[in-house]
Amino acid sequence: MADPIPLPLAGADRRRISIFGATGSIGESTVDLILRAGGPAAYDTVAVTGARNVARLAEIAIALRARIAVTADPACLPALRDALAGTGIETAAGEAALIEAADRPADWIMSGIVGFAGFAPGLAALRHGSTLALANKESLVAAGPLLMSTAATHGARILPVDSEHSAVFQALAGEDTAAVERVIITASGGAFRDWPLEKLATATVEQASSHPNWAMGQRITIDSASMFNKALEVIETREYFGFTPSQIEVLVHPESLVHALVGFRDGALMAHLGAPDMRHAIGYALNWPERAALPVSRLDLAAIGRLSFAAPDPARYPALDLAREVMEIRGLAGAVFNAAKEAALDAFIDRQIRFPAMAEVVRQVLARMSANSGLGNAAISLDNLCEADREARALAREAARSLSGA
Ligand code: NDP
Repeated sequence: MADPIPLPLAGADRRRISIFGATGSIGESTVDLILRAGGPAAYDTVAVTGARNVARLAEIAIALRARIAVTADPACLPALRDALAGTGIETAAGEAALIEAADRPADWIMSGIVGFAGFAPGLAALRHGSTLALANKESLVAAGPLLMSTAATHGARILPVDSEHSAVFQALAGEDTAAVERVIITASGGAFRDWPLEKLATATVEQASSHPNWAMGQRITIDSASMFNKALEVIETREYFGFTPSQIEVLVHPESLVHALVGFRDGALMAHLGAPDMRHAIGYALNWPERAALPVSRLDLAAIGRLSFAAPDPARYPALDLAREVMEIRGLAGAVFNAAKEAALDAFIDRQIRFPAMAEVVRQVLARMSANSGLGNAAISLDNLCEADREARALAREAARSLSGA
């Protein structure tokens, strides 16, 4: 049994934080920054959450002296309880427990759950007027208008954590967005950037799970290879900043050092550069509006020598055109796109479909649902969002079955 943990320090000067998805790649980077800043001496951690990796979740809860640790998976609750026995840290499990944890007032919340599962806790946190550091791009893609209006109604703030959106946010500081002509977000091109197109059908899950520059969770790494990640980010750019689709461009930049560029009407192009380390964007959101010293490596441009850029090839990255379609349709199209993409990714990871079939699954689901249900006209509510998500996943599974082996 672990030693009881002393009660959190008294004092109103510690910011209350919660970390959703603490055991993931974004979560671990957040924990690293919090511990370097003094851990429990500097931050009052309300909640930390994970799913299956309860051993690590317990370690994090103890290190940060969190009040509650929540696993998304009820089957993991006994193990979490055992790991935290005697520490005084509360434990809970399941979707409702995640929302309850997000309901506990905190000043700053990291939304680092992967997939649509991150949406409901994020929404609950916004209703408390918290600052939501949003890594979970799926939320904005599926329900951007709902999240932004909830934040506005409750005086909450959403700060972008995706490196590209943090870069745009930083380039826009002090600028008039009416003077922006275009926004360019960069993409490494992923694991298969230089593969012959005809070889893509042979790509394995292991090959797709290896990113040339960034160390990230498996799902976003595969989404980088297919550019579904960039497709989500194009939509995210629209939802977060309100730029029109024609203002948003994607540029392949294999070095992943320039994260985004903002072009103004006087011809100036402001670029944001930095090492490919998510602790920059996370640290920026954690310390905003201040800039704190961060443990990220500094770029030596003379050693780097040159940077390269290229237009993305639509035949290699069909996900980008699908994102344009989603932005044209609007309404629930983002929710459908995200859900179909998540189900197609599951089918690829389960080795049911080949790598290029993921885009075909999403294309079919989008075509079917936009033809049948007036997708674009629907105002987004929690109910119709969840319904669209369920239907899109079911159709995607059906499409994946028919494409399996193809
Ligand atoms: P990981 O897969 O590394 O981590 C995901 C986290 O979510 C883990 O804590 C995991 O728990 C938890 N989780 C998994 N499934 C569920 C569920 N159903 N309900 C609740 N929690 C769950 O992902 P990343 O950290 O890579 O990505 C997190 C989010 O951040 C994604 O939206 C991604 O797109 C975004 N993002 C990530 C970047 C990166 O560099 N990784 C960069 C920019 C954005 P456990 O591990 O315990 O099972």
